[in-house]
Amino acid sequence: MTDTRTERKLHALAAAARQDLVAPMAGFVDLAGVREAVEDLTKAFAPLGRVQHTVAAKACGLAPLLRFLGDLGVDAEVASPGETAVAEAAGLRGARLVLDSPAKTTAELAHALAEGTAVNADNFQELARLDALVGPTPPRSVLGVRVNPQVGTGRIGDTSTATATSKFGIPLRDNGNRALLRDAFARRPWLTRLHVHVGSQGCPPELMAEGVAAVYELAEEINASTGHRQVTSIDLGGGLPVDFTSAAGGPTYADYVATLLDRVPALADGRYSYVTEFGRSLLAKNGFLVSAVEYTKVAGGRHIAVTHAGAQVAARTVLQPEHWPLRLGAFDAAGVPKTGPEVPQDIAGPLCFAGDLLARERPLPLLAPGDLVVAHDTGAYYFGAHYAYNTLPRPAVHGFTVSERGEVRFTPIRRAQSLTELVADAGAEYVGALPRA
Ligand SMILES: *Cc1c(COP(=O)(O)O)cnc(C)c1O
Repeated sequence: MTDTRTERKLHALAAAARQDLVAPMAGFVDLAGVREAVEDLTKAFAPLGRVQHTVAAKACGLAPLLRFLGDLGVDAEVASPGETAVAEAAGLRGARLVLDSPAKTTAELAHALAEGTAVNADNFQELARLDALVGPTPPRSVLGVRVNPQVGTGRIGDTSTATATSKFGIPLRDNGNRALLRDAFARRPWLTRLHVHVGSQGCPPELMAEGVAAVYELAEEINASTGHRQVTSIDLGGGLPVDFTSAAGGPTYADYVATLLDRVPALADGRYSYVTEFGRSLLAKNGFLVSAVEYTKVAGGRHIAVTHAGAQVAARTVLQPEHWPLRLGAFDAAGVPKTGPEVPQDIAGPLCFAGDLLARERPLPLLAPGDLVVAHDTGAYYFGAHYAYNTLPRPAVHGFTVSERGEVRFTPIRRAQSLTELVADAGAEYVGALPRA
């Protein structure tokens, strides 16, 4: 195994170019990198005792990847019937799943209870639905409540979930809710967990720890008021931010655990078990997108490279570039880094709107048709979050490993969506069904 992620990536790019895997765009996942991230995660949280690590399926819920993570001991956090079905198809079911969603239907709740899947109820109305579903015998599922600690906004409003007015969880500081929560637990002996997820990306570890502290204090308060240790586990959520401006990773899991234990030393005293739900920090740095440059042009003095990677694979980057910048790399058709003076270039996608740009005036060696553009750090929230504009297909995703001698082995994770599938998704089965005008 070559020693660094960057070296593995260089080997993979050259091999992908040789094997014609980038036609015209594909995603890649560094499986050794994922394995290392899981090792870092497990090691960092060891001082907390019993911890169930899950991966947030929305970050990259592709079945082979969930299976790979499952084999490494990582379960899955799911938030829709689709994510649940994919995780179950990957062999993760029952107690290996945690169901979080603000909009769970009665059918989803019943399925989770039948399977023994853990559920974090989002609100009091959902708790009332659970009352009707939980029978006289204690449920096999671990059942909990998601609390919004209302600790404030991170750098990005859209992904901050612990604001005063967030749609997620029961707002802890709102009038009367602490007492209502104590009462909710007192009346339901099967409620044994509290859940908090302060936000995704842009929330500093200190803010995340503030949210955990609020929920820890609530757990102690509930247990004091019921007179026994009713709350036995705390779901700490995910949300560790990733540095998208450099090859380095941002805060590590060890940094985060140190921050947590600094804020709440008692987390390590063995009285609670824990769940984590990381997504971006496990996967972002271990994936990248590669697109061929189709054409280049100059408009109003601006150099433009037209590629196949636009908003369909990078919606957030294209639509909110200030929040979701990506590092880009310029490679030649053989997958070798291009050299030469850097020229500011717009890296455009194929979608039919002018703002479909992966980057504006990005200094890169001058690109030519047939070159490859690499969008780094796209292992989370890119491959799994397709935007179906212009009927563009979801790209293929390949996993890879690199041997000590630098030989690259690719394994398919997802096929590119075919034209037949695109046509079917466009309602082709009803093509003659509308009344004649
Ligand atoms: C999105 C989400 C996560 C994962 O967040 P990351 O920033 O990818 O770690 C975890 N838990 C919940 C409830 C989420 O909504």
